Amino acid sequence: MTGRLQGKVALVTGGSSGIGRATALAFAKEGAKVVIAADKNVKGGQETVQVIKKAGGEATFVKADVSKATEVEALVNKTVKLYSRLDCAFNNAGISGSWQFLIDCTEEGWDRTININLKGVWLCMKYEIPVMLKHGGGVIVNTASVGGLKATPRNSDYVASKFGVVGLTKSAALAYAKDGIRINVVCPGLIDTPMTQNTMDKLTQEAPHKRLEQMMPLRRLGTSEEIAEAVVWLCSDAASYVTGLAMTVDGGLFLQ
Ligand code: NAD
Repeated sequence: MTGRLQGKVALVTGGSSGIGRATALAFAKEGAKVVIAADKNVKGGQETVQVIKKAGGEATFVKADVSKATEVEALVNKTVKLYSRLDCAFNNAGISGSWQFLIDCTEEGWDRTININLKGVWLCMKYEIPVMLKHGGGVIVNTASVGGLKATPRNSDYVASKFGVVGLTKSAALAYAKDGIRINVVCPGLIDTPMTQNTMDKLTQEAPHKRLEQMMPLRRLGTSEEIAEAVVWLCSDAASYVTGLAMTVDGGLFLQ
């Protein structure tokens, strides 16, 4: 099997479903050995590993909560222990946020969203980058959202977390470009994943007058595989001069 990531070692957080799972599968298809992490959905993570192994690839699941420093450090250490290096990291684990207006969001809700969506990405990079520095470079892709580029009136904790991920990515890209580490952020639009299915009622409350598909310039939701394709490209040598990019993959949603 030869592919765009042949011989690379890749880490994917939130790989037990949705965008993370599709990207883990795409990484493996391109020849990478993949470590898949998630906190609660252990069964989903193990299923992702099984699918990869069945197709002849190499993968391992590690249970880790990205909002906890000790667990992220252990995850990166385990990756290096298993596969000796880390070439690509997709820091993708996230939650959908409180769906409250700012004044109704609880302190607990705020902390949960920021800790998983923003602090989690920072912690992942904090422990991934030293490994990449040691091995002469690497590639990181973080997951933000169109909601990290364009605000919505509700769910301000989510919007704040994703704007934060975009800013954090750009700062990190500048800091480590000279060391051969490229760092980009993918900004999905509305993608058909378990997260979207779980929030469908709330999404249609936002726009009850229109079907969600009709709100998209391309008239449909995106697929996890379409995000995975962009992430594989960003991680591959084809994107060797691309760093600090906030790449929308959104069917034109950001333009509206
Ligand atoms: P999903 O719910 O299918 O997947 C989320 C993954 O993150 C799961 O594997 C879950 O177990 C994991 N996770 C959640 N909290 C975690 C934690 N504390 N530690 C480790 N893992 C944790 O959702 P998805 O739609 O695939 O979302 C993936 C990413 O894409 C998220 O960051 C989300 O904000 C972002 N995103 C999704 C959409 C969309 O429309 N689905 C749009 C824009 C951005």
